[in-house]
Amino acid sequence: MGSSSDDEGEEYLFKIVIIGDSAVGKSNLLSRYARNEFNMHSKATIGVEFQTQTLEIDGKEVKAQIWDTAGQERFRAVTSAYYRGAFGALVVYDISRRSTFDSIPRWLDELKTHSDTTVARMLVGNKCDLENIRDVSVEEGKSLAESEGLFFMETSALDSTNVKKAFEIVIREIYNNVS
Ligand code: GDP
Ligand code: MG
Repeated sequence: MGSSSDDEGEEYLFKIVIIGDSAVGKSNLLSRYARNEFNMHSKATIGVEFQTQTLEIDGKEVKAQIWDTAGQERFRAVTSAYYRGAFGALVVYDISRRSTFDSIPRWLDELKTHSDTTVARMLVGNKCDLENIRDVSVEEGKSLAESEGLFFMETSALDSTNVKKAFEIVIREIYNNVS
């Protein structure tokens, strides 16, 4: 990871991980961002380890290699290899399921344990389209993010709200950290 120079100038490649409880929408956030796709009945992603998105920042090509857990989180078996070399993380809960919000401190601990560098972190309250069955208020999300020093955003992989924004804030923050 990091930057490299060649004739065309600098290029950047950043690894970003998506973590959070099972079924909060991690795989759909990634497929919405990388391919503009949503799957109502998505099964655990098999075989796809990561997707790469390219952005231009300050005239430089920045590649984000975004990793999805492929469902290991159900077995609490997300390995250290998953976290290795990550410069950014989206830590996701489901606003309609409080237990997934209660798990966030555990995910943050795990991230801290496995990272050896400054990680740009975004707390993501996904499924904000489910306002009618909301179980975690916006204020609670904001306040947890503030106390832990994370960015915060509510998203919907279903209707696309803030998905691009959430990823790109993290990517830009990593760029600012390293450049
Ligand atoms: P993962 O286990 O965290 O990767 O979660 P998935 O991406 O597989 O999504 C789990 C379930 O939640 C699937 O049925 C998705 O269709 C659904 N889902 C994901 N994101 C959203 C969202 O933003 N809104 C709604 N209403 N459902 C979502
Ligand atoms: Mg998944």
